[in-house]
Amino acid sequence: MQQEAPTSGAGEAEASLEVWIDQDLCTGDGICVQYAPEVFELDIDGLAYVKSAEDELLQDPGATTPVPLTLLQDVVDSAKECPGDCIHVRRVSDRVEVYGPDAE
Ligand code: SF4
Repeated sequence: MQQEAPTSGAGEAEASLEVWIDQDLCTGDGICVQYAPEVFELDIDGLAYVKSAEDELLQDPGATTPVPLTLLQDVVDSAKECPGDCIHVRRVSDRVEVYGPDAE
């Protein structure tokens, strides 16, 4: 079962997280972009990609970007609603997926 994202307090202490998209499974519906346009963007190929902190599209396969704590809930909601099940949120420290299709 997936965990709920922390909303405040203890959540501040959560380890750094990063997110990546498996474009092979992306349907291009843009739900993630609606939830977190600061983190996700649709490219002209119709697929979603993560963006760097400098707003640069990261198109290398498996490219990750840090998840700002202020956007964690939006990113987690994106992963939950993603029809392609292709948004992966993992801990930076040990690369264990905490939200997404491979989360325990
Ligand atoms: S929500 Fe998932 S399937 Fe839809 S555009 Fe974003 S990554 Fe692709």
